[in-house]
Amino acid sequence: EMSSSSEEEEEEEEEQEEPKVSEFKKRKMTIQEVRRSLPVYPFRHSLLAAIEEHQVLIIEGETGSGKTTQIPQYLMEHGYCQDGQKIGCTQPRRVAAMSVAARVAEEMGKKLGNEVGYSIRFEDCTSERTKVKYMTDGMLLREFLVDPSLAGYSVMMIDEAHERTLHTDILFGLLKDIIRFRPELKLLVSSATLDSAKFSDFFDEAPIFRIPGRRYPVHIYYTRSPEANYIDAAAVTVLQIHITQHLGDVLVFLTGQEEIEACQEILTERVKGLGSKIRELLILPIYANLPSDMQAKIFEPTPPGARKVILATNIAETSLTIDGISYVIDPGYAKQNYFNARSGMESLVVNPISRASANQRAGRAGRVGPGKCFRLYTQWAFENEMEENTIPEIQRVNLGNVVLQLKSLGIHDLINFDYLDPPPAETLILALEQLYALKALNHKGELTSTGRKMAEIPVDPMMARMILAADQHKVVEEILTIAAMLSVNGAIFYRPKDKAIHADAARKNFFHPDGDHLTLMNVYNEWAGAEYSPQWCYEVFIQHRSMKRARDIRDQLVGLMERVEVQLSTNPGDSIAIRKAITTGYFYHVARFSKGGMYKTAKKSQTVMMHPQSCLTEDLPRWVVYHELVMTTKEYMRNVVVIDGKWLLEVAPHYYKDNEVHDTTNKKMPKVKGKAKEELHVE
Ligand code: ADP
Ligand code: MG
Repeated sequence: EMSSSSEEEEEEEEEQEEPKVSEFKKRKMTIQEVRRSLPVYPFRHSLLAAIEEHQVLIIEGETGSGKTTQIPQYLMEHGYCQDGQKIGCTQPRRVAAMSVAARVAEEMGKKLGNEVGYSIRFEDCTSERTKVKYMTDGMLLREFLVDPSLAGYSVMMIDEAHERTLHTDILFGLLKDIIRFRPELKLLVSSATLDSAKFSDFFDEAPIFRIPGRRYPVHIYYTRSPEANYIDAAAVTVLQIHITQHLGDVLVFLTGQEEIEACQEILTERVKGLGSKIRELLILPIYANLPSDMQAKIFEPTPPGARKVILATNIAETSLTIDGISYVIDPGYAKQNYFNARSGMESLVVNPISRASANQRAGRAGRVGPGKCFRLYTQWAFENEMEENTIPEIQRVNLGNVVLQLKSLGIHDLINFDYLDPPPAETLILALEQLYALKALNHKGELTSTGRKMAEIPVDPMMARMILAADQHKVVEEILTIAAMLSVNGAIFYRPKDKAIHADAARKNFFHPDGDHLTLMNVYNEWAGAEYSPQWCYEVFIQHRSMKRARDIRDQLVGLMERVEVQLSTNPGDSIAIRKAITTGYFYHVARFSKGGMYKTAKKSQTVMMHPQSCLTEDLPRWVVYHELVMTTKEYMRNVVVIDGKWLLEVAPHYYKDNEVHDTTNKKMPKVKGKAKEELHVE
């Protein structure tokens, strides 16, 4: 470990007696004053000296100490950008990469995209002049394909390393290799928590530079009994804080856009009900798909006398620092991807967080002064039900994508790759099997020409395979539209509570009898027919910004087709061709109707259900391909198309046997009346 003392540190300690909050209140600090007030500032010289001296440095510091926004700037100011070389900084989250780049551009007084830029999937906001580049860890992994020695960079900072995302973990192994033959490349690994020793061990005892944080005590409150509805409980707690507690902003952790919108609605209504009896309460959401101008709102200072409540996903746990938070409300959940190697199924699950996460969340309340954290779970649950640490992603997600990328980087021995924590062997084997079934690898495990093309397309292997298959079926335009719509990740349909009936009716107009993929295609094509009009979206309850994103993604995919030798072709009326292309990519995601409204997955016979939002709920088809599984109370298939079981022998004869797709019954499918129900009314 490294000592990081300096005279400035002592000054800093004296300063610390006066909480920073009062300083903020006294006057508005200039942006440069804010920079100088950050905990990392007094250490900039010793930090730069340590970087000069060591090729690899682990940097540890509390969230908000200025690691992400300041260190790349110090490096640039110190001359690390000579001869057009860049400073790279990875972020596990898209929103963080964008928001931090915007902030740094502002601090430097430059236009975003020039000297400071960001690169995220489907969006490159950099230029020839870019010196400081923020990017998602996934994008850096993609850059390896084009520039395997990262020659364009003088420094690479792997930020938020403690998040242990799959891509960050893989980057560790790749970078460890590169620094051996690029001795002038500096590698910084920065993290908010105590995993530094582990990173240091991995990088051959690299020194650890600790930035002492300012942290005030946070009082923790628990509920006496578990909360049945944590969204409602969170809203109630916000109002209780607002009515009974001193001023100071509130941060609520929820699991995603839907929960955030639900909570926002409850709060807005109750605040309206209270009228002028209470102080102003500003309710601000932050999640990945929120447009960036609205994301920026969370950083605006709270007006005097008012209180801000931020409804956030996990992104506010460590990736983004919002100043002025005194109260944290933590329901104790997060959405995570889980892959079950035995069933071969991956699904998005709302899961209890770990104790380490809970403590990070609580810490958000203690940055500007003493704070309070309201945990909406019992102390018993915290102590007995939560895991100590979050399981690193590499040990719980599908590895298909990463294996394909490593293979295309020429890394063949995946078992002996240098992992910080190795993935389970069965998950690796399954990924290899899947890639073989998708024809990305041959029987020797080598990349095929199909596999090489798949690796070029920045989507997961099944989607990449679907896109390539569209070429054979001459429906490339249609499949790219579908791929883009599926990749949007945000809601396409808008359903305000007070206009739910109208919204549902509007949605039904887009329904395609063959399934949700085609329904999505209908929406896109009609929007395109309406000249991409926002007004059109508004009238038919479609979210315009999701559509804009779909269009951007689609444009990017279209631009990539030449590189993978795919000719654009179109045949919007050929539903069979479109669905065969989908099936060629997603034959792993096949389910067949079982009974009582349930489906069984084709190979492993896992029970899954049609998602209630699917357009197929009224007439459940026998065979379907689903895009993904989401786990709520049950395992739901989201985005589903009807297929013919026999197609499986055609598109995946190496995977399906004749008897597996043979229908044992010739009975007509039962018709369901009304919405998807547990009980089917058989005609
Ligand atoms: P760390 O990476 O150590 O968690 P950051 O560099 O992200 O710290 O944040 C340092 C400070 O920069 C924050 O406390 C906040 O004051 C400011 N900051 C960061 N991002 C923004 C933003 N988008 N808008 C306004 N201020 C920001
Ligand atoms: Mg940071």
